[in-house]
Amino acid sequence: MNLDLVQETLTELGQPAYRLKQVWKWAAQGTASYEEMTDLPLALRTALAERVPFSTLTVEDEARASDGTVKVLMRTADERVLEAVLMRYRDGRRSLCLSSQSGCPLTCAFCATGRMKFGRNLTQWEILDQALHFRRMEPVDHAVFMGMGEPMMNLDNVLGACRLLPEIGITNRRTAISTVGWIPGIERMAADPMPLRLALSLHAADPALRSELMPVNDRYPLTDVIAACQAFYEHKRRMVFVEYVMLAGINDSHAQARALAEILDPRIFKVNLIPYNPTGAFDGSSPKAIEAFRAELERQGLGATVRLTRGRDIAAACGQLAATR
Ligand code: SAH
Repeated sequence: MNLDLVQETLTELGQPAYRLKQVWKWAAQGTASYEEMTDLPLALRTALAERVPFSTLTVEDEARASDGTVKVLMRTADERVLEAVLMRYRDGRRSLCLSSQSGCPLTCAFCATGRMKFGRNLTQWEILDQALHFRRMEPVDHAVFMGMGEPMMNLDNVLGACRLLPEIGITNRRTAISTVGWIPGIERMAADPMPLRLALSLHAADPALRSELMPVNDRYPLTDVIAACQAFYEHKRRMVFVEYVMLAGINDSHAQARALAEILDPRIFKVNLIPYNPTGAFDGSSPKAIEAFRAELERQGLGATVRLTRGRDIAAACGQLAATR
């Protein structure tokens, strides 16, 4: 729901200022139409329905995995595609994986989105409408910007959405922004008052290998990125989660685990090892190799966990969100 457009329309219709809040309150609570907003005059509900699309996105397709994960393929008004995912956990947590861009301009070697054509940055409203879509299904409480795109390249709109997510049920503390290591974005996030979590996609401690996997490493070298994350921690006192995708024979050796532990301060960083979801060029590390890598990190004193893979059977897992149409 484009709240700027709602506001404009309300002004044109000569409505009092408090109407905007009323409309948003209903929407944020998962209401599915203007019609149901029963504290608005009926004529106003009708006028809004005629003039302001209830969502900036249309749902094109929905897939449900056996583990309860739901993936939706959505389209913007100008026909850009994006995907968003709802993950349901046994402890009751409902976590959303949100997209910040349609496609992605970066070209990480292992990522499916990097191979699709870059569309554009999503607006704040298009980001929120992904969350609202799922909120209409059930209450939601966590979000990660780990869908399509690099959130730091669209940070104004991402932060704009984060400012309103709490009203949908997702507090800033339960929201994580994941980045390839886009330093200006990390710095801005550190300066922002919202207590958002930072996640860093790293995948190799060795600069040459990291550049191969993530060309952005040439622009923002690893040592500078780590320094920016340390500064973030100094400001926020919130640990930074490192995402490390496990690629067989590429970045999963004992020596590479030790090298990783060497560059990461265990007071600041925690590592989340991500089983690779095959999308092309690479093979994922075996569960045994992943466990050995994790154990080595722990031996070096660095906290490390293995990420639970969700929605694999519907290609909704990390890095699989390349729209197929
Ligand atoms: N651009 C941001 C956010 C989107 S990607 C970033 O890179 O952090 C979210 C995470 O999924 C990143 O850590 C990325 O490295 C990981 N990822 C990408 N492709 C993957 C794949 N095929 N299997 C597992 N993880 C993948």
